[in-house]
Amino acid sequence: MGRLRKNTYYLRGFKRSFIFILIAAVLVGTASVLAWQQVTRRLSQDARESIVSAGRELAENFNYLLEAEFQILSSISVSLESPAVSAHTERLVSYLERQNRRNLFDLTGYQNPDGTAWFSNGKTLSWFLTPQEVQQVYKNGRYVSARRQDPFDQEDILVFAVPLKEGENAGVVFATHSAVFYRQTLTANLWQGNGIGIIMDKSGTIILSAPKSSFGNIFEMALDFVFDGGFSADKIQQDIAAGESGVSGYSLRGEHRFASYYPLKYNNWYAFAVLPTAFVAEKALGLMVMAWLICFAVIAVLVICIVFMLRMQHQNGRALYTMGFVDSLTNADNLNAFHFKYEGAVSAFKNQGVPYALAVVNINRFKAVNDIYGLEEGDKILKQVASALQSGLQEGELFCRSSADEFLLLLACPGRTELAARLEEASTRAGRFCREDGKCLPLSLTCGIYVVDEQVPFYIMVDRAKLALSSARQRAGAVYAFYDEEFRRRIVAEKNIESHMESALQNGEFKLYLQPKCNFKTGRIESAEALVRWDSGDKGLIAPDNFIPIFEKNGFILKLDWFMLKQTLALLKSWKEQGLRVVPIGINFSRLHLDDPSFVPELARLADEYGVEHHLLEAELTESVVFGNTAVMKRFVDDLHQNGFTVAMDDFGSGYSSLNVLKNLDFDCVKLDKEFLMREEGSARMRAIISGLVSMIKSLGGSIVAEGVETQEQAQFLQSIGCDLAQGYFFHKPLAAQDFARLLAPNQPDNKQ
Ligand code: C2E
Ligand code: CA
Ligand code: CA
Repeated sequence: MGRLRKNTYYLRGFKRSFIFILIAAVLVGTASVLAWQQVTRRLSQDARESIVSAGRELAENFNYLLEAEFQILSSISVSLESPAVSAHTERLVSYLERQNRRNLFDLTGYQNPDGTAWFSNGKTLSWFLTPQEVQQVYKNGRYVSARRQDPFDQEDILVFAVPLKEGENAGVVFATHSAVFYRQTLTANLWQGNGIGIIMDKSGTIILSAPKSSFGNIFEMALDFVFDGGFSADKIQQDIAAGESGVSGYSLRGEHRFASYYPLKYNNWYAFAVLPTAFVAEKALGLMVMAWLICFAVIAVLVICIVFMLRMQHQNGRALYTMGFVDSLTNADNLNAFHFKYEGAVSAFKNQGVPYALAVVNINRFKAVNDIYGLEEGDKILKQVASALQSGLQEGELFCRSSADEFLLLLACPGRTELAARLEEASTRAGRFCREDGKCLPLSLTCGIYVVDEQVPFYIMVDRAKLALSSARQRAGAVYAFYDEEFRRRIVAEKNIESHMESALQNGEFKLYLQPKCNFKTGRIESAEALVRWDSGDKGLIAPDNFIPIFEKNGFILKLDWFMLKQTLALLKSWKEQGLRVVPIGINFSRLHLDDPSFVPELARLADEYGVEHHLLEAELTESVVFGNTAVMKRFVDDLHQNGFTVAMDDFGSGYSSLNVLKNLDFDCVKLDKEFLMREEGSARMRAIISGLVSMIKSLGGSIVAEGVETQEQAQFLQSIGCDLAQGYFFHKPLAAQDFARLLAPNQPDNKQ
């Protein structure tokens, strides 16, 4: 069960991290998709922009090329204007041949107004340029032909021409360049041959194309194109007719492309550039792959970080779990773990309809065990007790070491008798501890049990079990006690007393009562005992049995005893001052004073302060105080004697070692416990015991006060066996101080001086 819980604890961490990874993955995934869309859109736009600029560049390059050709032709024509050259055929041809070589034309020539054309290769043709073409040359000053065949080697060429003399019909100077030359030039700026460059005329007829040579009409071809959103072949035609440029995407036989067109300077020609989208997509794919790689790397780093974090968390979790939930000495659960598991265990009990109880188990006098046998042995005992208690657990029950020598158990409680028997058996088993040297220690355990019958917070349940434990401890020999309502009421009353005691002392609510100790025969008051009463106002007079045990537990008895002592001293002083008969008064002193070395000196100092002779004070010490403290007690009694106080042993016969105590200690007086008379009143056996005790005390030289004398019969018997004084209701009940004083007044028969 413990492991299961531990796993649940770790599992929570894993679940959290898993959710974290999931969220991170979704975020990174979404970001990647968005990035992909963005990149694609961006690239498509880039493709559009680059095709536009490609069309423009194509046009500008071609313009520039033609411009260069015309410049050269113009300079040739200027030279040919000289009649010396043009008039002599031989000179003309050699001049043309030189110019052709220098300018890298295919052919250079001059055609006179009659139509005779001389070529740089020495050949002559009639009307190489048709009369219409010549007219255009004259008209526009510059002319470039459509693609045609070289008259001598059938190669595709373009022909350029300028007039010999501007504004005159003096013939034309021309040159030719092969189409291949232009194709090479065009291809140079067409994305490493991935695009198509076309020079066409206004009617769409292809004049040049690169990188492959093709013929035909663009407008006709465009009828097969499937244009992107709203574009058409007609639109291109309209744009070109209007001399405008444009761009559009289209698909042809499943391939998507971008095309742009841009007007040229000459002949109303157009440059037409085409770029396959696949080429753009390839670039995009490259970029995308890179983006994905980056994403992947980011995710990988993220995963590595998380795995690292998880490992750390797991390790820390283990360490924390151990630190927070495991008792380092016994390796059992600690209180935190117990509390953590409590809800689950309880709901399981509830589901099964099984009543359950919280039990707290404590090792008795464990401090003494530690003091006597040492901490190491103490640790061994704790481990053994823990494992013995733990081994008795049944399915669904819990155990922990809650503090030093205290253990907490959540147990099924089919019935109080069964549970008590189980705990008794477990305590006996756990209490059997034998040392390595074979010596077995007398360990005993006490249990407090709270059968959970109410929905209260965990710590209150623990408190209740602990209260039951302290109640069990108060009953000598009890192994366990159950928490119940009566018990709770008592505790509440105790708490109530504790919360009022200080103020009661301040307000003078504690009153001094005196009970006379009388001569059996004459009834004369020989001495008295000071007894406290609590005049609580609303609850009336409270008897000391209701609060003295509580004050003994919380130490307040020390204050109360000093208060009572002072009251007594004041009373004795006032009697003396009033000239009353002064009788010794016995005062009850708690065992707690025994630990205070300044007690007797302080007592003496106070008596002196009030001017009270020491022999008038008798310290009453109960037999149980003496038990186990003989040496301390002896010193205490001797101290009192040395200071002139007398000492009485109170409640003699109620304890176990009365006779021993009597033997070892020097008491002036022994007070027979009233229980003797109450328990088996009048029985012959009891009478024999009492008379035996009395004669023995007598033989030791002490005086004897019989407590609890209630009848004449008892008085006669006690007197007959040699008791000195009687304290009991037969003679007097405890009396308020002023009532007692009245009994001491000189007019009372007993007090005649
Ligand atoms: P204790 O010292 O044994 O006092 C005698 C008790 O017996 C008193 O009870 C008294 O009222 C009662 N008693 C006397 N004669 C009779 C009788 O004939 N029949 C019966 N049934 N009882 C009789 P009390 O006053 O209730 O005191 C109870 C105990 O409280 C005392 O027992 C004493 O141990 C303690 N106590 C009282 N006052 C003080 C105090 O000032 N300081 C300390 N430390 N303890 C005190
Ligand atoms: Ca007493
Ligand atoms: Ca007594």
